[in-house]
Amino acid sequence: MRSQYCGELRSSHIGQEVTLCGWVHRRRDHGGVIFLDLRDRDGIAQVVFDPDTGKHFELADKVRNEYVVQVKGFVRARPEGTVNPEMGTGEIEVLGKELVILNSSATPPFQLDEHQSVGEDVRLKYRYIDLRRPEMQEKLRFRSKITSAIRHYLDSNDFLDIETPILTRATPEGARDYLVPSRTHANNFFALPQSPQLFKQLLMVSGFDRYYQIAKCFRDEDLRADRQPEFTQIDIETSFMDEEGIMGMTEKMISQLFSNLLDVELGDFPRMPYAEAMRRYGSDKPDLRIPLELIDVDDLMQKVDFKVFNGPANDPKGRVAALMVKGGARLSRKQIDDYTKYISIYGARGLAWIKVNEIEKGIEGLQSPIIKFMPADVVMELMERVGAANGDIVFFGADQAKIVNESLGHLRLKLGEDLDLYTCQWAPLWVVDFPMFEEDDKGGLTSLHHPFTAPSCSPEELVENPEQALSRAYDMVLNGCELGGGSVRIHDQAMQETVFKVLGISDEEAREKFGFLLDALQFGCPPHGGLAFGLDRLVMLMTGTQSIREVIAFPKTQSAACVLTAAPGEVGNAQLRDLHIKLRKVEKAAE
Ligand code: ASP
Repeated sequence: MRSQYCGELRSSHIGQEVTLCGWVHRRRDHGGVIFLDLRDRDGIAQVVFDPDTGKHFELADKVRNEYVVQVKGFVRARPEGTVNPEMGTGEIEVLGKELVILNSSATPPFQLDEHQSVGEDVRLKYRYIDLRRPEMQEKLRFRSKITSAIRHYLDSNDFLDIETPILTRATPEGARDYLVPSRTHANNFFALPQSPQLFKQLLMVSGFDRYYQIAKCFRDEDLRADRQPEFTQIDIETSFMDEEGIMGMTEKMISQLFSNLLDVELGDFPRMPYAEAMRRYGSDKPDLRIPLELIDVDDLMQKVDFKVFNGPANDPKGRVAALMVKGGARLSRKQIDDYTKYISIYGARGLAWIKVNEIEKGIEGLQSPIIKFMPADVVMELMERVGAANGDIVFFGADQAKIVNESLGHLRLKLGEDLDLYTCQWAPLWVVDFPMFEEDDKGGLTSLHHPFTAPSCSPEELVENPEQALSRAYDMVLNGCELGGGSVRIHDQAMQETVFKVLGISDEEAREKFGFLLDALQFGCPPHGGLAFGLDRLVMLMTGTQSIREVIAFPKTQSAACVLTAAPGEVGNAQLRDLHIKLRKVEKAAE
C-alpha cells in the first residue's frame, strides 16, 4: 500500500511519485490550501493539497487528527523560507494528488504533541495512542535494537536461546510470588518465576553449557520508580567458566552495546569489593560519577563527650562518618533543613554539619550547631582528616551503620544531582566479594544474592562463621544502578545442603521445595555460573529516561495494575469453582 515511510523522505526524492500511509498528525487550512502532517513510525511528512485536485481536496478538508489515510503525490522542495531544519523531512513536502481515507478516528483523548500535561493514568489507559508519539516510538525501537544486538552477541558466542516455564514452582529471589491456582490439582498453586534461576542451572546439568533467554520475571513487591511487577531479564548461564570468565564476557557485551548503539566507550570496568563500596559510598551500587566519599571518623568520636557521636562510635554495629562537600558552605539553612528531612526517610534522626568559613582562625572560623559539644583539637583534627577548606561544608551521620550508610549514601546522590557534581557521563564498575548472608528482620540470616550462590570458603568455614563468609557473586553497576548481577553457583549437593542449613531451612523443607535441585546436583552437575541483566533498566539508562514505565510498551501502574485492560479483575463464580476457590470478604480499609 505504500512506497516509502513518511519519515524516510529527503531532498533526494524530489520529483518522485510516492504513496504514503499513516495518521493525520495535524491538519491546517491555509486559505484554500490544505496541509496535512502525515505521521508513521518513521516520522512526519508534510503533504499539501491544492483545490485543483477536486474530490481529493474535499476529502483532505474532511479528515481530522488521527484519521488513517493513504496519499499519492509528488515530492517537491519546500518553497524558500519554509524549510524546517528541526524535521528530518523539513526540506521537502509532498504535493498530494490522491487521498484515500482508510479509517476515521474519534477525537483522541489527548493531543499527541501535548502529552506533558496529560496525566500518566490517561496515557496508560489509552496506551495505544500514547505509543504513537514519536518519542515513545523511538524508545521502543531503541529497545528492540538493544535486544537484537544482545542476541547477536550471545548467538555469535555460542549461547543457545532456550525457554523455561512460566507456570512453575517458587524461585526465591527475595520477593513475594505471583501465584496461579491449578484447576487440575485442587488447592495447589503454580508460582510465576521470580527468575529462571533453577531451570537455567538444570540446563547446565543437561550439558547445554551456554544458555541465554530474554525472560519475563515476576516479583510481587513494593513498587518504586524503577521497578515493575513483571519485567524482563537478559538471563545468562554458563558451565566451566569462573567469575573472571563470566564477568569478562558480559562486560564485553555491554561495552560493545554502548559502543555500537551510543558511540560511547565505557573503558575497563573497575572492581570494588562490597565492603569498600559500603565504606566509601554507603551503597553496594555506588554512583562513581559523583566524587563525594564517606570518611570514617569513629576513632575521633570515641573519646568526645557528646552522646550523639560517641554512642555509635563505640558500638560495634554503629558508624560515624563524614561527607565533605567542596564549596558547600553556600548551602542555606533552608536547604540543609530540606536535606535533613530527606535523609529522615532512611531513618536518620538528624544531620549534623560544620561550615568552614575561615579555617585559618581555627575553631572560631567554623560555623556549626555541634562544635560546642566537642573539644577544639578534635574538631580541627576532623577538619584535617576530611581535607576541608574555606567554603566547604562537612555533614555527619552517626547511628547504626546501616542507617548511616543509607542516609549519607542517599545524601551523596542527592547532592551530586542538586549541585551537578558529575565528573563524567558514564561510570561502570563491578562490585564483588559480597557477603553470603545478611541479617533479616527477625535476627536470622537470609541470602544476600540467592541461596544457590557459591561461597568462597569451605562448608566448615561457612558453618563456623556465616556472617563473615563471602560469596562468589558479582554485580554490574552503572551510574548508581544495578544493571545486572549473578554468581558462580553451588554445584555440590553437600554444599547446597549446608547453605540451606545456615539459612535455617530444615531438611524436610529443603526436600519439599528444592528436592529436584538437590537430586540434580547428584547426577554430574558441572561447575557453573551466570548472571542476569535487567533489560528495562538498561534501556532506561541508555535512552536517558527517568521512569521504567516509559520504556515498556504496556507497563503496570505504581499499584501494580493495568489500567488499559483493567487487570487484575474479578472473576465469576463458575470459574472460581473450577479452581476450587472460595473468596473471603475483604474489609474495606478505613477512610
Ligand atoms: N537469578 C538472579 C536474579 O534474578 C540472577 C543470577 O544469579 O543469574 O537476580
